[in-house]
Amino acid sequence: MDYAVARRRMVENQIVRRNITDQAVLEALLKTPRHLFVDEGLRPHAYADASLPIGEKQTISQPFMVAAMTAALGLKGGERILEIGTGSGYQTAVLAHLVSRVYTIERISSLASRARRVFDQLRLTNINLKVGDGTIGWRDHAPFDGIIVTAGGPEVPTEFLEQLAIGAPLIVPVGPLDQQKLLRLVRTDADNYTREELMDCRFVPLIGENGWMGDG
Ligand code: SAH
Repeated sequence: MDYAVARRRMVENQIVRRNITDQAVLEALLKTPRHLFVDEGLRPHAYADASLPIGEKQTISQPFMVAAMTAALGLKGGERILEIGTGSGYQTAVLAHLVSRVYTIERISSLASRARRVFDQLRLTNINLKVGDGTIGWRDHAPFDGIIVTAGGPEVPTEFLEQLAIGAPLIVPVGPLDQQKLLRLVRTDADNYTREELMDCRFVPLIGENGWMGDG
């Protein structure tokens, strides 16, 4: 299987055809070997128009969702971005090609270790990964030029709003467990935010202090 060909087809058929035109985002997708972020047995499906299981009841997001969320950040380059829910690390790697630094938090340590290995393999050196509850954000490195949340919670954690720089966007799925709305909030000044609904979506649950209650 020629993964580079599969990747080009993915970008053409799933992303460009669905009207994502941000050239930098398309290039980052072309540069990121999605097959390395799934188990060997799933590699033939890595470029399919679907999310895939990554173990621990979690999933690598559908390529289109990664593209849409990345484009929604409206990146220009040079940003410091916070990502909640590293999972496979695929979204993290795409972001790492576009910004100056990605801070990413994953609650399941086995997934975090696997992602870290792939980042090393790809020599992505501008990623800070930690294991923990991302629903409280990452205060030590705030404010961020953008925050992207790849798991769905019942509401928008206020910590995320507080850790945004002025003018920075928060891309976050919010709603019941079986169906969420992808929201974009932008901090317009110290106390005000705009809020828009981008699309319907379905993410695994955001589990933590300001998310759904879980088993730890
Ligand atoms: N962007 C990832 C999505 C993985 S699924 C990818 O495409 O591979 C979402 C991830 O969020 C899961 O790995 C899950 O364990 C993690 N997660 C859920 N709640 C979290 C929390 N409070 N803090 C950090 N990670 C969390």
